[in-house]
Amino acid sequence: MEKNKITFWAIVSILFLFGIASVNADTIPLEKGYIRFEELKKRLPGLQYKLDMVILVGEIRFKKSTEFKFRVDSAYFIHRNNIESLTKPILYMGRDLYLPREMVEAIFIYLIDSEVSYKFTEDKLTLNLYQRVIVQPEEIGLRHLIIDAGHGGKDPGATAVNGEYEKNYTLKIARMIKRYIKKKFPNLKIKFTRKKDIYVPLEDRAKIANKKLQSSKDTIFISLHCNSTPTPEKSPHGYEVYYLAQSGPIETTRESSILSNQLIDIRRDPKVQYIQSGMLSSVIQRRSILLAKAIDSTLKQSLDSKIASRGVKKNNYQVLRGSMMPAVLIELGFISHPQDVKMLEEKTVQLKLAEGIAEGIKNYVMAKN
Ligand SMILES: [Zn+2]
Repeated sequence: MEKNKITFWAIVSILFLFGIASVNADTIPLEKGYIRFEELKKRLPGLQYKLDMVILVGEIRFKKSTEFKFRVDSAYFIHRNNIESLTKPILYMGRDLYLPREMVEAIFIYLIDSEVSYKFTEDKLTLNLYQRVIVQPEEIGLRHLIIDAGHGGKDPGATAVNGEYEKNYTLKIARMIKRYIKKKFPNLKIKFTRKKDIYVPLEDRAKIANKKLQSSKDTIFISLHCNSTPTPEKSPHGYEVYYLAQSGPIETTRESSILSNQLIDIRRDPKVQYIQSGMLSSVIQRRSILLAKAIDSTLKQSLDSKIASRGVKKNNYQVLRGSMMPAVLIELGFISHPQDVKMLEEKTVQLKLAEGIAEGIKNYVMAKN
């Protein structure tokens, strides 16, 4: 019965798990079916116990969690006034506690603040600790998000110091953003310009995005790239958020694209159309700047210097030029710099990137409205 209950909760807690941010995988040896408390504490530093050496009654807790009350040599423990039974008694030997398997499972389920997946075999416990990411769904006043994972297929982009390609980082992080945003803003529809390792020409990327405007003008575009320098020994590091640099010719191109994409009422007088397309173009520009600033500021917070901010910048990127909606390009880090590469490889950092971008989009939407 107790066992069924624990299995049920293990499944429930895995469902809550965002399921991506693996912090570490580890094994702990079992000694005659027992786990040494010190071994567990090494992996879960907030875990502690108190033991009254006279009556051999003690408590186990994690940080400020509720506690398990136990007695040495007893096969029961108490949690929140419930008595839970164990198949073997808790032992105290050589100044350490020895916990039976079910008690370790109960610690994972009831006490610790991270998510865990684990497996017991005859002689060891394999442990994967995850950062707990419970995403609270929210409504957002935006219809479509286009995510453009830079490069792909025959175009690998830059090569990182560890030999990995830019195209793989951009796709991995695009997927992470999608997974996160689907949970965070369930009403926001996400479209990729590429879902896998394929080559998509730059002009097609903007076209894919612009097509979405037919169903809703409430659409933004985020392109993901990684920076690099040809001289890795002098490589800078950090991320940058770009919007399109304005100039007369670029403006004119965008205005005529607005007309050809029929984003304004083409039944109107051509002069009116011209004025409207100019107005729309400047709205797109202002909103792109707003979006870039919003994302930079929330990324700064969520990344907490793991990848440093190099600020908001402007550039004449083709993919930005072509898109008829608020659009930014994020250089996620310098893959010519070992520290940035290390960070981009880490699932927890990828998640921070997703969180920061999602928060930035939310702040942008609030500011724009
Ligand atoms: Zn690139």
